[in-house]
Amino acid sequence: MSTVTHMSYEEAVAAFEPVIGLETHVELGTNTKMFCGCPTAFGAEPNTQVCPVCLGLPGALPVANRAAIEATIRIGLALNCSIAPWGRFARKNYFYPDMPKNFQISQYDEPLCVEGYLDVEIDGELVRIGIERVHLEEDTGKTLHVGGATGRIHGATESLVDYNRAGIPLVEIVTKPVPGTGARAPEIARAYVTELRDVIRTLDVSDVRMEQGSMRCDVNTSLNRPGAEWGTRTETKNVNSLRSVERAVRSEIIRQAGVLTDGGKIIQETRHFHEDTGDTTSGRSKETATDYRYFPEPDLVPLAPSAEWIEELRAALPELPRVRRERLQSDWGFSDLDMQSVINAGAVELIAATVEAGASAASARKWWLGELARRANETETELEALGVTPVAVAELQALVDSGKINDKLARVVLEGVIAGEGAPAEVVAARGLEVVSDEGALTKAVDEAIAANPDVATKVREGKVAAAGALVGAVMKATGGKADAKTVRELIIARLS
Ligand SMILES: [Zn+2]
Repeated sequence: MSTVTHMSYEEAVAAFEPVIGLETHVELGTNTKMFCGCPTAFGAEPNTQVCPVCLGLPGALPVANRAAIEATIRIGLALNCSIAPWGRFARKNYFYPDMPKNFQISQYDEPLCVEGYLDVEIDGELVRIGIERVHLEEDTGKTLHVGGATGRIHGATESLVDYNRAGIPLVEIVTKPVPGTGARAPEIARAYVTELRDVIRTLDVSDVRMEQGSMRCDVNTSLNRPGAEWGTRTETKNVNSLRSVERAVRSEIIRQAGVLTDGGKIIQETRHFHEDTGDTTSGRSKETATDYRYFPEPDLVPLAPSAEWIEELRAALPELPRVRRERLQSDWGFSDLDMQSVINAGAVELIAATVEAGASAASARKWWLGELARRANETETELEALGVTPVAVAELQALVDSGKINDKLARVVLEGVIAGEGAPAEVVAARGLEVVSDEGALTKAVDEAIAANPDVATKVREGKVAAAGALVGAVMKATGGKADAKTVRELIIARLS
């Protein structure tokens, strides 16, 4: 269907109310696969991490991975879910070359974790996102279409398949529909995925790297006129970065608003997100559950985690990101605004580590959100990728605090650290950047400045202390900026009174 009306985002959200939903897949970082003992390392030669079970050979029997079940329960607990005391895996039947068994072992009507929520913070306001279910399944293999221009199957001369990924434990986290977000729907979708990623990273059950596919997101979007029933939703796949989550929701809102304004209908379908254009295009029409002919997996015993085990796991949960951020903000004495800027800059953990290494919170924030953020911006890199560690920042600040270097020299030292010249103290020594605080050397420079500026010296002698600034400047110039200005000033006043 071609859209005649193109609406701006603002027009779209003025006329329609979006309802969003997110389905996130997370590959667990277990050592072995979900139902066999094959290793799970990323990047191995294709089809070297396979066995009869994950290749679906006749007669091979699966055995569930306890570590994966434990990780799934921990995710469920961290998302405030109830953990089902009993449930079965289910066979999801479909025929696709990346699924060698022609079915995927998943969970259908008996998921491990249900009815939870995750609170996300948007501009200091908490938005509660309902979690419908968290279930455990196995990942599929990977197909690669070669010979075509786009990497898609159309136009390809060959299709290759790698089963190394087939059978890696995969957790699916499904939100309830989220209505009432209005124009903030894209931003809230992104904030949710960000918070979810941080929670899972804190639990240390996955490396949650969207660019490597260990965290993947499908975004559901529908629109309705205010007061009307919810509209038909589409499911956008291939959303592989936080930024793309936001863009995918936004572009789908604009597209659907155009279709609806023209009197058209939204078709329930899968759509593909295109990173380059930021648009979605139609994929296959969405299968319904009946197409998959689910039935309980007959080769596995039911899953029945004991109440004791669940309570043990609950008690051992680490401090979760939002609680941790609140505690750090209070420890650091930051205002809400200060803390928000730290969160937006993605610098919470960097500052925490810098404080851990001995710096004050204020100085850690000053470096990471000031000079270092500026350099990261200039070179379009992440703060973590600058090559400056929190320990180096703490050391740099300690050098300033001890008077060995001043703020201006510290920035030069930082340059050296970024250039790979070593730790701050090594850069100071190698470049000879230490502040001259040796009184003998300074006195000589002060005397020379007084001799070179007799008029100024006279004024200072007559009590015009403000005039001493010119002499301080002359000494700083003579020492290449390496003198301690306060000491210089004191020496000048002492000399001339
Ligand atoms: Zn295997």
